[in-house]
Formats: sequence, structure tokens, C-alpha cells
Amino acid sequence: MGKDSRIEWTHHTFNPWWGCVKVSPACDHCYAESWAKRVGLDVWGAEAPRRFFSDTHWKEPLKWNRDAQAEGVRRRVFCASMADVFENRPDLVEPRRRLLELIDATPMLDWLLLTKRIHLVKKLLPKGYQLPSHVWIGTTIENDEYARKRLRYLLEIESPSVRFVSCEPLLSPIDLAPYLKPNERGIRVDWVIAGGESGHGSRPMDPAWPESLQKQCAAAKVPFHFKQWGHWAPANNLEVPHGYPAHKVIDFYRGNKKVQVISVGKTVAGRILRGRTWDQFPKTRIPAP
Ligand code: SF4
Repeated sequence: MGKDSRIEWTHHTFNPWWGCVKVSPACDHCYAESWAKRVGLDVWGAEAPRRFFSDTHWKEPLKWNRDAQAEGVRRRVFCASMADVFENRPDLVEPRRRLLELIDATPMLDWLLLTKRIHLVKKLLPKGYQLPSHVWIGTTIENDEYARKRLRYLLEIESPSVRFVSCEPLLSPIDLAPYLKPNERGIRVDWVIAGGESGHGSRPMDPAWPESLQKQCAAAKVPFHFKQWGHWAPANNLEVPHGYPAHKVIDFYRGNKKVQVISVGKTVAGRILRGRTWDQFPKTRIPAP
């Protein structure tokens, strides 16, 4: 997509192609599909074609890598916001191979590969290929069911680097504790991102859900990043601009205590959780030169 991404947790976003198929409840209101439709592209679904890009597009990360090298800093690249790198279809084999080559050629960039098809990662990587230390591999989990289904695959992947989960859109409480402590191979989830849903038809998030994730991460000393409340925000302490059309309120209960969330849109909702922002990141595991 381009440089200077507005997503706080990454510096750049790169898409090897556009298009995908929905695979779980987290996909119900896929913003990438809406965005593609808005620009007149029908690239969603098993039968639809994917959108591919020119060499100019593929050269962009090489420039980001040169800039990072010149500045002596590492930069994060989110890949891919408009697709799923591990979608399994024949026309994606070649662009995925090209992506791996590009990753190899850009060692100053930390590539964040986030997929809902974590069970396909081993199958779709070339035989004998091992993820390099500047790839962070992650999966989305929206509820406990998908935590159980996906996290075992995440922890099985051979990776010298970061394994992360994105709990966004967070659709129910999630017990992450079993995955935040090292397993028998000393492997655990290294980073947790959480956020509520935004856009049309957004599902409200009980504030207790991200609060619990933050506390679980703090207890396990795992870095936590709270991206956004999304469309719905806790009504308490929220400063809604005068005349702002906040139409709906939803009640959640903790015993007899009522907690209200209000539909204000993600800009007003912001990203303050338990009185502060959460911008923790894992340490990169790049071997010394
Ligand atoms: S996997 Fe991601 S890109 Fe694909 S449909 Fe689901 S949310 Fe959209």
C-alpha cells in the first residue's frame, strides 16, 4: 500500500497482492474487502481474481530498507493489509515466492506476517525454508475457539524471531495464559495486540475483554499493544464532542455492575485503556553482525 502507514504499530505496509476469502467471524466485516469495493475492485471470494502489482510497487521495500540502513534504524513492515499471505491458491505461489525473496533482500526491515491461515504456513513455505530472524509471524484470534484452533500452529512454526497474536476484532474474552508461558520447547507468544472493531456494522467490545488481556500479559511479562477501541468506547470518562451523533449505547454486566459502551467512531473512541496507552513491543532477535 505505501509508506508512512497510519497504523501505529508499523512504519510501512506492503501488499504482495489484493484479495482474499473470509475464513472466520473476525472476517465478517473485513475492512480490506470494503476498501477494495470502494475503489471498484471485485477481488474477494474463491472465484474472484486477485489484484497483482508492477515492479515499481515491489521496489518500494528496497528503498525503505536503504533508508533504514542510512538512518541506522530498524523499521517494521506490516504485510499484508489487503490480503492473507498464506491463502492457498495456485496464482499466489509465485508472488509468495517473490515476497520471500524480497524479505531476504531487506534485512533492515522487520516483516510482520499476520495470517488467519496459520495452519497453512508450514505447508506453503518452500521445502527447507526457515523464516529469517527479521520475520515476525503472527495469527489473529478473535475468541477462545480460535485461540484453541490457531495458537497451537503458531507455536509449532520454526522461527528464530517473534511469534505474535492479534486479538482484533476482539469478540469475546480470551484466556491467553496457557500460551504466554513457555511450553516444553521454551516457546510462547511473544507479543499481544488487541483492539475493537471499527467500520460499518462493528460489534461492541466489553471493556473487560482488553483489560483482561492487558493484565494477563503484565502477569506473564509479555509486551502488550492496545491498538484502538474501534467504533465502540466505554461511556465513562469519554469526552464526546458537543453535537456529536453518538446514537447507540450497549450495556455489559459484571455481576450487578453495568458497563456501557457507546458508538462514537474510532477517532473519538481513541485508545486509552485503564488510564493510559499501551505501546509495548517485543525485542527483535536479530543476531549480532
Ligand atoms: S483473512 Fe483478513 S483479508 Fe482475508 S477476509 Fe479475513 S479479514 Fe479480510
